[in-house]
Amino acid sequence: MGTLALSRVEALDQPAPSIAGEVARIAREQLAPLAAGVDDGSVYPAELLRRFGEVGAWGSHVPHEGPADLRCAIQAMAAIGEVCGATAFMAWCQNTLVWYAANSTNMKLAKRFGDGFSTGRLLGGTGLSNPMKSFFGIEKLKLKGRKVEGGYVVRGALPWVSNLGPDHYFGTIFEREDEPGTVMFLADCADPAITLAPCKPFLAMDGTGTYGVQFRDAFVPDDLILADPAAPFVKKIRAGFILLQAGMALGLIRDCINIMDEVDRPLGHINRYLPQQPVNFRDLAAELEAETMALARDPYNEEDTYWRKVIALRLRAGEASVAAAHAAMLHCGARGYLKSHRAQRRLREAYFVAIVTPATKQLRKMLADA
Ligand SMILES: Cc1cc2nc3c(=O)[nH]c(=O)nc-3n(C[C@H](O)[C@H](O)[C@H](O)COP(=O)(O)OP(=O)(O)OC[C@H]3O[C@@H](n4cnc5c(N)ncnc54)[C@H](O)[C@@H]3O)c2cc1C
Repeated sequence: MGTLALSRVEALDQPAPSIAGEVARIAREQLAPLAAGVDDGSVYPAELLRRFGEVGAWGSHVPHEGPADLRCAIQAMAAIGEVCGATAFMAWCQNTLVWYAANSTNMKLAKRFGDGFSTGRLLGGTGLSNPMKSFFGIEKLKLKGRKVEGGYVVRGALPWVSNLGPDHYFGTIFEREDEPGTVMFLADCADPAITLAPCKPFLAMDGTGTYGVQFRDAFVPDDLILADPAAPFVKKIRAGFILLQAGMALGLIRDCINIMDEVDRPLGHINRYLPQQPVNFRDLAAELEAETMALARDPYNEEDTYWRKVIALRLRAGEASVAAAHAAMLHCGARGYLKSHRAQRRLREAYFVAIVTPATKQLRKMLADA
């Protein structure tokens, strides 16, 4: 590793705790009072997402001079997730959007959007569930595009894309219909040919700005192309895409442990008969965190063994989230069954970690195929 690369890693080691610490403070003070509203869909926390961006939550994983390090981004996301799983998911959406722009070789795009996304001035997300499923042979690409002068014309619909609004952006992929190939681009929600339709209410995550998105022959100029062809780009960004999701899981598991600890005084005498105790989840969380931090230092690693480790970690993170939330419910008893208690919110959020792409079933297929 050259001197430049080393000093980059050292530099990343220093500010990481302060960004995550600052994010944790804002989450405790400003996000906690909004969490129930974000959960029930009455609040989309745009201002807070911008505030997190101002203190560096969306910028630390931007590669400079080569390597990238996702550790700080994941720790900041975990701090958010300890308070609100839905907002941690929006944090992942935003971080992923930043990751796309930062890795694009379209310099015009990187220059125009890089800072806006990484500071939170511009918000948005990612519509890669369908492409990620298509690349692993699960379903066909839903967006189609054809080359025209100065860009492409895109048509089709994506059923769910989150962290959106009228002035937001997201990265997604279409299949060329004029010749073989796929292209990754930034969709501009302000484009009148791109419409956002509200979704039916979800089990959780209703405040995440999630919409069905329709492209009615939308013109995508060359300036908004992230990668053409998309395949090599997806190979480059896919480990980061998946690893960043660990932040949602780590935060959620930490709060499930908090919940179990909170009821220990009144209920510890009977809860000790339950098979899974906070100490088990403390150990599990520590193990997952150590593995995540190790993999997050090296998101461009192209080795097959590394990729398998990333998939296996992501699978464990989803399963551990559901297990921790389930245990928190059992420890809480009737207290956690109240709608006003966050234990039941955590259970609903945990299922999202396990079903968001790549979902548990897709991860198992990927491991079986790898
Ligand atoms: C709250 C929420 C937010 C999401 N945000 C994003 C996002 O930001 N970006 C993104 O790319 N994806 C998003 N998704 C999609 C998500 O990542 C998964 O793709 C989705 O949960 C299904 O994954 P699966 O692998 O279990 O597929 P399955 O549930 O097995 O579904 C396979 C396919 O069936 C179809 N399908 C199933 N149910 C419905 C339905 N009710 N309406 C329409 N089609 C249906 C879809 O084509 C789907 O891809 C979101 C989903 C939810 C519930």
